[in-house]
Amino acid sequence: MNKISSTSPNAARHPDPWRLNIDLHCHSTVSDGTLGPREVVRRAHRNGVQAMALTDHDEVGGLADASDEAARLGLCFIPGVEISVSWADETIHIVGLRIDPLNPELVQGLANVRGGRQARAQEMADGLARAGIAGSYEGALKYVGNPKLISRSHFARHLVEVGACSSMKQVFERYLIRGKPGYVPHRWARLAQAVGWIIGAGGVAVLAHPARYRLDQTGLWALVTEFREAGGRGIEVVSGSHSESDFARFGKWSQDFGLAASRGSDFHDPEESKYDLGLLPRLSRSLVPLWADWPELMQMQPTLADV
Ligand code: AMP
Ligand code: MN
Ligand code: MN
Ligand code: MN
Repeated sequence: MNKISSTSPNAARHPDPWRLNIDLHCHSTVSDGTLGPREVVRRAHRNGVQAMALTDHDEVGGLADASDEAARLGLCFIPGVEISVSWADETIHIVGLRIDPLNPELVQGLANVRGGRQARAQEMADGLARAGIAGSYEGALKYVGNPKLISRSHFARHLVEVGACSSMKQVFERYLIRGKPGYVPHRWARLAQAVGWIIGAGGVAVLAHPARYRLDQTGLWALVTEFREAGGRGIEVVSGSHSESDFARFGKWSQDFGLAASRGSDFHDPEESKYDLGLLPRLSRSLVPLWADWPELMQMQPTLADV
């Protein structure tokens, strides 16, 4: 596999980017997180995060508040988004970082991606009703912070609350994944479109949590190749959606494909999430951190232990 450098050779590089506490993936009530944008930033700051991106699903509506709160606390804020993509019959997530949230094509594209969520949710509720769970649309709505962004997570929280399942994980396995009664197939953005919106808005596109997709080695290879050809430049390696063995596995993919490595908790809620904001392992020194040449981080002092 040919290696291409993911950062320009002449760009200034941070002397020790691995030991900066950077969290480039998390959610607020603007999508399916349970803390408001300002609360997420305050929590990250308390946890020692030095720079963070808020990456709500298909939405940039929380970025202004989050950015304002970060400025107040002296934390570096990176505007972000996590775009839902349909690729080869699978749903893929693409994280966009350092985007201009006012870019008209991005704003319109995200509005289109969000468009079908309400009708999809109604259909999900119909499916669940046929399986004996009534009133789940209204139940899910109680958890929704943004009426344009009703997601499977909101249904899952409701089903746990009413005792239909004992955990979010169980709800997904029994009701919300393909083949289960509450699953409704949906057409999201195309891969090249999502990457194009991010690049057009001045940002960098990152393949989110590659371990999560139901793809074999060949499928994953095709996905990563197409992502890179579309202009994608990063891949999540240390992710709250990954196991520790995935960190090593996708570190290798990062090296083999010349994609810079990213680190993000994918934090949604203090109880539900595997890693709290910023409290996850640092990237291996054998990897190129996505943020190594970001000018806004250049003067930052490393804080993570050198283990
Ligand atoms: P949606 O965009 O409506 O399809 O919802 C997708 C969201 O559901 C993801 O972003 C996760 O937050 C959540 N999710 C997906 N699979 C699981 C799972 N197995 N356990 C818990 N949450 C999940
Ligand atoms: Mn989510
Ligand atoms: Mn995701
Ligand atoms: Mn996410």
